[in-house]
Amino acid sequence: MTQPVAVLGAGIVGISCALELQRRGFQVKLLDRRGPAQETSLGNAGLLSYSNITPIASPVLLARMPRLILNLDDDFLLHYPHMLSLLPWLLRFVLRCRRKTYLSDGAAMADLTLASIEIHKRWIAEADAGDLLNRVGGLKLYRHRQSFLRDRLERELLERCGVKHTVLSPDQAYELEPDLKRIFAQAVLIDETISIRNPEKLCQAYAQMFVDAGGHIGRVDIQFLRPTNDGWEVVTDQGCEKTPRVVVCMGAWTPGLIGQLGYTNPLAIERGYHSVFAASGEARLTRPVFDVDGSYVMAPMEAGLRVSSGSNLVRRETRSDPRQLVRVTPRVREAFPIAEELSPEPWMGRRPTVPDTLPIIGPAPRHQNLWLAFAHSHMGLTTGPITGQLIANFITGSEQPFPVSPCDPARYL
Ligand SMILES: Cc1cc2nc3c(=O)[nH]c(=O)nc-3n(C[C@H](O)[C@H](O)[C@H](O)COP(=O)(O)OP(=O)(O)OC[C@H]3O[C@@H](n4cnc5c(N)ncnc54)[C@H](O)[C@@H]3O)c2cc1C
Repeated sequence: MTQPVAVLGAGIVGISCALELQRRGFQVKLLDRRGPAQETSLGNAGLLSYSNITPIASPVLLARMPRLILNLDDDFLLHYPHMLSLLPWLLRFVLRCRRKTYLSDGAAMADLTLASIEIHKRWIAEADAGDLLNRVGGLKLYRHRQSFLRDRLERELLERCGVKHTVLSPDQAYELEPDLKRIFAQAVLIDETISIRNPEKLCQAYAQMFVDAGGHIGRVDIQFLRPTNDGWEVVTDQGCEKTPRVVVCMGAWTPGLIGQLGYTNPLAIERGYHSVFAASGEARLTRPVFDVDGSYVMAPMEAGLRVSSGSNLVRRETRSDPRQLVRVTPRVREAFPIAEELSPEPWMGRRPTVPDTLPIIGPAPRHQNLWLAFAHSHMGLTTGPITGQLIANFITGSEQPFPVSPCDPARYL
């Protein structure tokens, strides 16, 4: 008889868990209040990026801490009223900014990333979604050579983890992207980065594979979880679902749900915003670019050029504040000829991040038949599929493809 499992949350992480568990023979119900990929998985920068194995906590960031705390840079924006409640996270984050932890956390991130992009490639082929793919790498651009030199530890990490990257002169970068304005001093091509022209469509194509194979997606607002003798009751706005096992993949909303079971954790919500612009005239951008000194990522997508901002550390439900996006827009114009803004208003997403930047994946420390998969920070689109595989391995007792203790929920819960 097939065994039931409920997967809560249908972002890329929940969809991946549902799909993988279904393929291992489970009868899966995927529950979400908004349907597949309508929150953070919808509006990200669309990169399946090898270079994002770099943890946020780094010696370089530590050196910039005084500027960051004074909100002088646009890649991080702190919301001061939130600082006190953020303190436990900040203290642990600062302890993670050592070279040794940076390299070990990055290596663990590389395990997840490299394996996940391989699964993506298989799933994209199965879903016949190859037209969403752009396989021309990603460019990291530096306006100041000093910033490029400052990032040398990052390149050492890429080197150690076997991530192919090529340091380019400005002329070599302009050869790849002739419409970039001549303001850059150095560039690095992350050769194998894949970008997705519409992340929402990709997630929905995976969700469709799940449905086509007999999976069920329920539209319910999940309110709390109640342990029973033989599993769980998932209490929703539509009633109560009994299930022997539960996987929680509710992204930034997971702490609220598991907090009711006594799990508290140092988690920061890094908000990010995007706007979509038309390119001016005949100007064309072929691949995503990360303007390091400009503090934005710009990716060519189906709808236009999607410009994403850095991190805004703020309480989850505080009002939208796209200040960073407003500030970086003139810098985008300095770098590339953009025309009118196509999106009616900035989109906002929530990146839940623990101090080591690694996701939380595995069994809940103090409850049976409950698994957790959240806190995917800046890398959830990339690492969703491997998360599904690791969770399915935990549930079935199968061997993991690499050491998974760096993602153990018990390290923070
Ligand atoms: C600006 C920005 C750029 C990014 N760029 C990239 C990138 O280029 N590459 C990359 O890999 N990652 C990127 N990310 C990160 C990535 O988008 C996230 O890590 C990923 O989407 C997280 O997926 P998730 O499934 O965990 O969460 P979500 O996509 O947020 O899904 C959580 C789901 O839970 C559901 N839910 C919540 N509460 C309830 C409830 N009470 N009842 C029912 N359902 C509920 C929500 O409706 C939602 O569907 C970016 C993020 C941002 C904000």
